Amino acid sequence: MVEVSKHRTAPVYPFFVGDVKGYIVSDGTLALGAPEKVFLGETTQKVEQALTRNFLPTEQIIVEQNILFFSLGNTNVLVETGVGSFRGFGEGAGQLVDNLRAAGIDPARIDAILCSHPHPDHVGGLCDTAGQPTFPHASIYLAEHDFAYWTDEALLDSWAAVAVRVARANLLPLRERLVFIRAGEEFLPGVTAHSTPGHTAEHICFEISAGTDSLFLLGDLAHHAVLSLENPLLHFAADLDPSTAAKTRTRVFSTLAAERTRVLGYHFPWPGLGHLAKQGDGFRFVPEPIRW
Ligand SMILES: [Zn+2]
Repeated sequence: MVEVSKHRTAPVYPFFVGDVKGYIVSDGTLALGAPEKVFLGETTQKVEQALTRNFLPTEQIIVEQNILFFSLGNTNVLVETGVGSFRGFGEGAGQLVDNLRAAGIDPARIDAILCSHPHPDHVGGLCDTAGQPTFPHASIYLAEHDFAYWTDEALLDSWAAVAVRVARANLLPLRERLVFIRAGEEFLPGVTAHSTPGHTAEHICFEISAGTDSLFLLGDLAHHAVLSLENPLLHFAADLDPSTAAKTRTRVFSTLAAERTRVLGYHFPWPGLGHLAKQGDGFRFVPEPIRW
């Protein structure tokens, strides 16, 4: 019998946006919990029916972590860092560094890290358990007030305690390396920050443009490739302002569908590249064919 190692390294998916070569590197999967605790504002039965209709398990919401790596000239860019050592979403995530190394990408060669917002599954991989930077030469691009909010000591005793603890452990040691970006700003060549509030107050969706091609990074505008799209008004439990998040989702998805913009879903099935199409009162994710 063949002994198969328990440890898996995921493949890395190469693709292009114009002449910019990108790679999707997995951080693994997040176990978010029982559907009725994750998605609110709809009956448990309806959420279960949607999952069943889409051949998905009904006892647990599991989503992926699709991290984008690309190079702009001499600048190596990573978008999000996964959970790092944080295990609040189970044992399935935290694989980014292993998968980067397996792909020949040295964390020390990353120059810029873009974070849509400072939640554990996005900034948890910035530092190791000793508070040392995992990406020692990288600048970290994020929104200023989101940084201030999620590292606020006053929230350490609140409902947000876990997220604040992880944000503080990962961002405060890197204070000197933070670069605050503004919505609407092209802060790196061809990389623009879009304001998409609701999940957090200053949640940012990044867009990469090269020639006539572009890629819109959904970040946490959508957490589930089926549920967040079929009913964009469905509330996600971790949305800071659920009704603003629902409005933002509907507005942005409508534009992306109408303009046929290519998207990357951070939490969608790997590698997460495709398009959003209008479907009834909502949308559907159409994954693009894999091209090796
Ligand atoms: Zn997330």
